[in-house]
Amino acid sequence: MISAKEFRLKLYTWAKEHPRDYPWIEEKDPYKIWVSEILLQQTRSDQARPYYLNFIKAFPTLDDLSAAPLDLILRYWQGLGYYSRARNMHASAKMLKEQFDGIFPQDPQSLQKIKGIGPYTAAAIASFAFHYPAAVLDGNVIRVFARLLGIPHLAGNKEEKNEWNRILNTYLDKKNSASYNQALMNFGSIHCKPLKPHCTNCCFQTKCVAFLTESIPAFPAKKEKTILKKRYFHFVLMRNTKKQILLEKRNDNDIWKGLYQLPLIESPQNKSLRTFSLSKIKTTDTKHPPKISLNYLKSQTIKLSHQELYCSFYEARISGRYGKIKPPFSFVNRENLVNFAFPSVIKKFLKEII
Ligand code: SF4
Repeated sequence: MISAKEFRLKLYTWAKEHPRDYPWIEEKDPYKIWVSEILLQQTRSDQARPYYLNFIKAFPTLDDLSAAPLDLILRYWQGLGYYSRARNMHASAKMLKEQFDGIFPQDPQSLQKIKGIGPYTAAAIASFAFHYPAAVLDGNVIRVFARLLGIPHLAGNKEEKNEWNRILNTYLDKKNSASYNQALMNFGSIHCKPLKPHCTNCCFQTKCVAFLTESIPAFPAKKEKTILKKRYFHFVLMRNTKKQILLEKRNDNDIWKGLYQLPLIESPQNKSLRTFSLSKIKTTDTKHPPKISLNYLKSQTIKLSHQELYCSFYEARISGRYGKIKPPFSFVNRENLVNFAFPSVIKKFLKEII
């Protein structure tokens, strides 16, 4: 088994030879570290880079983020998915302002008292911003040590997490936790990758259990496959006589909460939509309710982490008046659509159609 001293020596040599150029590397401001860590949770570094730069430009400080309306924050998150990250950040920023005087605590335990900051993010902020001797327990790091030491299990239950924390703390460079954690995470993401790790030119080759036993695919063990829930969404493009487009704000505790979409009907089965009732979007019935006919336009399937969405788009042809529209529906001018945050599938459709 490789000693902690040898591991660190080899890791630092590798890091020197593989510098990474991302705007959050070497960052010391806990706010900016926090933003980058939340962005990187479900997003590749290259994809996160422009989002990070735009986000920091729009909300350069914790004060700016806590004072901003959620709608605006979601606009800067558009296209990234996992929108609860943006909503939680907004709530956390307010909490930090109100309960911590706008100052980030320096240790992982206190950081975890803030809504939306879990053990991983807390360790990353404490280590990168304050050089707190905290080991980061993330997927990349687990994969490296699982292969190197031949540990088959993931950090699933409490005992496994404790065991992993014990192992990671044994190897942690406590005097230099920021550089150590950064180097280790980089090594996991670009060298000891999930698929096709660079074993042939790896500095750990002679010590790596998975390599020496030719059993790399077995480490770490695979997660059980998630069964995706199928959902059938029917979005209806509706315009009024002024050519304004009807939007609906998603307020329920569901995916895309806080984002805007075209009026939606969700059906339990994969059947095309034949009719559309205006009752859900109007406050009063007119004496002469408008007649609606639907024209099917296109479909798109989207896979999220736990759901598979079958999205169909229709255009409504309406003869007669709409009557008074009630929230969360509103007609919006075409040129104002840029001021709204949409899920990618809606944004793409609007771009194509308009
Ligand atoms: Fe990872 Fe391969 Fe290096 Fe082992 S030899 S640490 S599996 S890259």
